[in-house]
Amino acid sequence: MEQKTTRQLDEEYVAHTYARFPVEIAKGQGSLVWDTEGKEYIDMGTGIAVNAFGVSDQTWIDAVTAQLGRFQHTSNLFYSAPCAQLAQMLCEATGLKKVFYGNSGAEANECAIKAARKWAEQTKGPGHHTIITLKNSFHGRTITTLAATGQDVFHQQFTPLTEGFVYADTTKPEALAALAAEHHAGTIMFETVQGEGGVLPLPADFVQAMKAVAAEQNLLLIADEVQLGNGRSGAMYGYMNMGLEPDIVTTAKGLGGGLPIGVCMLGQRVADVFVPGDHGSTFGGNPAVCAGAISIFSRLTEEVLAGVRAKSRRIFDVLSNAEGIESVTGMGLMIGVKTQKPVKDVVAACREKGVLVLTAKDKMRLLPALNIPDDLLEEALARIAAACV
Ligand SMILES: *Cc1c(COP(=O)(O)O)cnc(C)c1O
Repeated sequence: MEQKTTRQLDEEYVAHTYARFPVEIAKGQGSLVWDTEGKEYIDMGTGIAVNAFGVSDQTWIDAVTAQLGRFQHTSNLFYSAPCAQLAQMLCEATGLKKVFYGNSGAEANECAIKAARKWAEQTKGPGHHTIITLKNSFHGRTITTLAATGQDVFHQQFTPLTEGFVYADTTKPEALAALAAEHHAGTIMFETVQGEGGVLPLPADFVQAMKAVAAEQNLLLIADEVQLGNGRSGAMYGYMNMGLEPDIVTTAKGLGGGLPIGVCMLGQRVADVFVPGDHGSTFGGNPAVCAGAISIFSRLTEEVLAGVRAKSRRIFDVLSNAEGIESVTGMGLMIGVKTQKPVKDVVAACREKGVLVLTAKDKMRLLPALNIPDDLLEEALARIAAACV
């Protein structure tokens, strides 16, 4: 019988929800990956902001495998040390009070939405369930997190979506108070830097408006730090760079270092909103995943964060002045690059030159490992710049 290639099998049997690049990954080490034809690439995507310290990071492998050798799973009806210890680390780093574990960014956001709805009903009364999210946002692919996502293109053909979301325009901070009042909103939910929307940091005047409206109208603030969180912003979390104190913070991607995790962190005002039976997850808080996350999180030292900021400045410096590039936006090591040539062509040219990059809308998106070595970063930037001309 004829042996089918991976690509043939994938096209035949895997649902066509992804437009894959024509590359089959064979292995990786740090910020380098190789395809099955032996071609080497510098990895400027880390999955999508997932492999925080690069591919096959030994410290993380050791942490995960040590836990796998003890026990790989227990239900949430029992205590497990990695789950409890990671929760302590997250709370001590943020000042938030309690965490709930799921397995993805969307699940972390689902939990945040449930917490916000219950809080609003308990403290503000029935009818205050509406959550304001932002135009151009992205919060996930479940029916409810799609509803939270303020981009029509993701909604089409999946309606009816969950009710109770309205969308604010980040270019009209002066309209936020009236929007919240009109809908008796209970919560505002936002990405500090809109990722899928084109790597756009929230405008400072909109941040001020959110703070003011939340204070005046007694609203919760939910920061979706699924992509930017856990060191990528140059701080532990992106909101810390913006003087915000959200009541709920969600995170996922980079925290697991490559294994699935989603965390919803609950601040003082919502710490005790959930009681047993309100929410749950079979796999959430998996001990091997949490052991890996502890290994990632414990290495987010001030030195590593300073490195993220320095590498970020270098990327902005090189690419802002490069030919064929119109703009560079973002925060830390989450960077969007608007190119003169169509982004699809630039991404293909990068791949040709041995650099893996991503896109966000019409931009190239760079999400390198937090510890990408400086020489590899320089080489990647030179190849990217050449691909943009
Ligand atoms: C990726 C992402 C999500 C969804 O995370 P999944 O793990 O794919 O469910 C939600 N919010 C933001 C900001 C993201 O970048």
